[in-house]
Amino acid sequence: MPILVMKFGGTSVATLDRIRRAAKRVGREVANGYDVIVIVSAMAGETNKLVGYVDETSPLYDAREYDAVVSSGENVTAGLMALTLQEMDVPARSWQGWQVPLKTNAAHAAARIMEIPTDNIMAKFGEGMKVAVVAGFQGVSPEGRITTLGRGGSDTTAVAFAAAFGAERCDIYTDVDGVYTTDPRICEKARKLEKIAFEEMLELASLGAKVLQTRSVELAMRFKVRLRVLSSFEDNDEHAGTLVCDEEDIVEQNAVAGVAYSRDEAKMTLVSVADKPGIAAAIFGPLADAGVNVDMIVQNISEEGRTDMTFSCPTNQVARARQAMEGAKDRGEIEYNDLIADTDVCKVSIVGIGMRSHAGVAAKMFAALRDEGINIRVITTSEIKVSVLIDRKYMELAVQALHDTFELEKTA
Ligand code: ADP
Ligand code: ASP
Ligand code: MG
Repeated sequence: MPILVMKFGGTSVATLDRIRRAAKRVGREVANGYDVIVIVSAMAGETNKLVGYVDETSPLYDAREYDAVVSSGENVTAGLMALTLQEMDVPARSWQGWQVPLKTNAAHAAARIMEIPTDNIMAKFGEGMKVAVVAGFQGVSPEGRITTLGRGGSDTTAVAFAAAFGAERCDIYTDVDGVYTTDPRICEKARKLEKIAFEEMLELASLGAKVLQTRSVELAMRFKVRLRVLSSFEDNDEHAGTLVCDEEDIVEQNAVAGVAYSRDEAKMTLVSVADKPGIAAAIFGPLADAGVNVDMIVQNISEEGRTDMTFSCPTNQVARARQAMEGAKDRGEIEYNDLIADTDVCKVSIVGIGMRSHAGVAAKMFAALRDEGINIRVITTSEIKVSVLIDRKYMELAVQALHDTFELEKTA
């Protein structure tokens, strides 16, 4: 039997009624002749609630226990989905990550998948089971501890299963009907894309577009998984949603494909550090050791041998970053006068493979922000993206202004 992977996100399994609706979709694919692997997220809001419990209990928590707690939301929906399918006379059972076993490394809270043995589930398909329901987001480390794949990780579970089982397609059912030029919830002119290139989706995801987890796009690209994003609330035909595919398969070519934003940014400034060889290594070494994901970096021009060093990192890593810097200061590895954390910033980015061949895209972006009176705090660029750090209160305005400036509501 051909295999299909169907992933249902949090809003698509938020209530028992929605689980029933999702199960009906699964039942239809079984009737179409597929053996189906269903990957489920936790009910909407559940994972946030669990993360909140951990944060309140232990701000600088042991990540192994964090994973033990936050992985549990998916266990509930996996069991409920299997029960719902059984009630519909569809032979189904649930698997938690460790039962598959979905083997990961030991990087807790951001684990990477190492291996997914298929024999266990294939044997059940061989015995007439039609649907394997697998709890997304979770796995097991070499030490036998429960791991999670990072927020939004069920997307990655889904793509990894599609690759491991050679699935015909990996369908990601969510609360929007595809990938848009930007988040349709903050820009009403956002346009649904029929197709998007892996490279662009990868950048959009890593810059904050949470419709797909970055790692899921990486895996789909590497293992050539047919990846589709579609709505779990609408009727879909075979052309519904957005197909994430190779660049060559796309005719449309705007310089900019989309705009992404990330609320989850903090700007940290080390005030008056000695400007001498090795200073960057002395700062960013301890940050890396502490597991801080540094994104943008700016070193100011120095005056009298002192300079300010600014970097950005996720908001929830500010405490870790501060601890790492204070530790390095105490050990005499760095000296600075002050460490200022600004959590009222956000990152807005434009992405497009067309930028490789279009000049002046960044200049146009900066002009659009200037016209709105938005001050740019930090800039970074790569071949196919430009990102700026700006005050959080301007986030929506900036996204809408950039969407207008690059006329993303129109097809090329
Ligand atoms: P799920 O729970 O199904 O995994 P997520 O909330 O993780 O869903 O992802 C879907 C959300 O991603 C949408 O509701 C939308 O607000 C957001 N989003 C951000 N950028 C985009 C984009 N470019 N296209 C579509 N959705 C986007
Ligand atoms: N439930 C997890 C989260 O909210 C994983 C997922 O939904 O993909 O991050
Ligand atoms: Mg998600």
